[in-house]
Amino acid sequence: MTISASDKVAEKVYYFDNNATTRIAPEVVEAMLPFLQEFWGNPSSAYRFGAAVHGHVEGAREKVAALINADPKEVIFTSCGTESNNSAIHSALYMNPGKKHVITTKVEHSANINFGEYLQKRGYDVTYLPVESDGLLDVHLLEKSIRPDTAIVSVMYANNETGVLFPIEEIAALCRSRGVLFHTDAVQMPGKVKLDVKALGVDFLSLSAHKLHAPKGIGMLYVKRRTKYQPYVIGGHQEKGRRGGTESVPNIIAFGRAAELALSTLHDENTRVRAMRDRLENFILTQIPNTVRNGNREHRLPNPANIAFDFVEAEAILLLLDQLGICASSGSACTTGSLDPSHVLMAMGLPPMRARGSVRFSLGIYNTEEEVDYLCLHLPKIIQKLRDISPLNPEHPDNDQYDIEAAREKHESDLAEALAEESTAATA
Ligand code: PLP
Repeated sequence: MTISASDKVAEKVYYFDNNATTRIAPEVVEAMLPFLQEFWGNPSSAYRFGAAVHGHVEGAREKVAALINADPKEVIFTSCGTESNNSAIHSALYMNPGKKHVITTKVEHSANINFGEYLQKRGYDVTYLPVESDGLLDVHLLEKSIRPDTAIVSVMYANNETGVLFPIEEIAALCRSRGVLFHTDAVQMPGKVKLDVKALGVDFLSLSAHKLHAPKGIGMLYVKRRTKYQPYVIGGHQEKGRRGGTESVPNIIAFGRAAELALSTLHDENTRVRAMRDRLENFILTQIPNTVRNGNREHRLPNPANIAFDFVEAEAILLLLDQLGICASSGSACTTGSLDPSHVLMAMGLPPMRARGSVRFSLGIYNTEEEVDYLCLHLPKIIQKLRDISPLNPEHPDNDQYDIEAAREKHESDLAEALAEESTAATA
């Protein structure tokens, strides 16, 4: 398949959606190319052409293990973060057949929320812990939710929408003291916060390579030594019998190289990227009226800014930004297309209209000050333009004549129609 002119949306992409996925680093492409072109043997084969590849897979495993201070034997390559999360919870339930209870939170990625709903349909009991209005988690509530039949607690390290961090070390210690397995979804962490599974004391930890400048379709699950583990994908003896399926060698090599790079970009993320995020956020909050930050200001990742723009719909903002080559998002990429407000922002108690007007800008190491300037130049005008025509805006000139509720409903159905037309056009 070739890339057509219509696929090429803009001359330059201003990419502010690094929590959805990241650009593949040139160093990563370089590392994986020989494994696409020359060394394409199967690492499980007995002959040297295949077996030679095996050594490189193990080299990549060492690099990924080093990223989280694990032993390479504790790293299982999977296809993605979703599979890693599902596998950890599945294993805990399988290995503890008498325990039917899982604890997670209301703000997890759909990889957990929807897996929890699937488990509920199969007779398991799942507690979804609430969060506070700034997105933080009350650990005492978690403590009170642990029951004798709790098999596993699964709590994300950083929220993908707000960047809010949860106290993983504290939760891991609590679970240990209560004899309950603990899994954390650390998909948003690498390159931003130093990861050390030993210091954290977790039993399971998930990563996904496409969040750290490697390709999509490769993830990993850390399983602490001596933790009983039941594979989720059952097949061949790959991954020492813990995950069937021929290894995706080029992706594994890419993950290894990206893991090395992530260790070296920690400083940049926490200084330059953080400063750009703060500049963007301060600009929006001070220069665009009726805007609010979503999520705790202190306990969060250095790269995302999640902002509510009152009286406008996020989908409309995103469509106009897209016209200018600017990529941002509302909610997580996996829920885009649904007109429901973000489940994360709703769990934080935002009024639905405010949640619907919230946009996430997530920065990364390839962003520049000039790109932030470009966004700051256009965003206020876009918001103003949308507010001028928004029936939700109390300052709308015709507002007295408006039946706000009817107008809102019409606005929503127009928007749904426009989106449906767009997606039909995109798939045509
Ligand atoms: N967990 C979190 C926090 C995420 O942000 C994502 C991806 O957006 C996932 C899990 C799922 O990862 P993957 O896309 O590799 O399945």
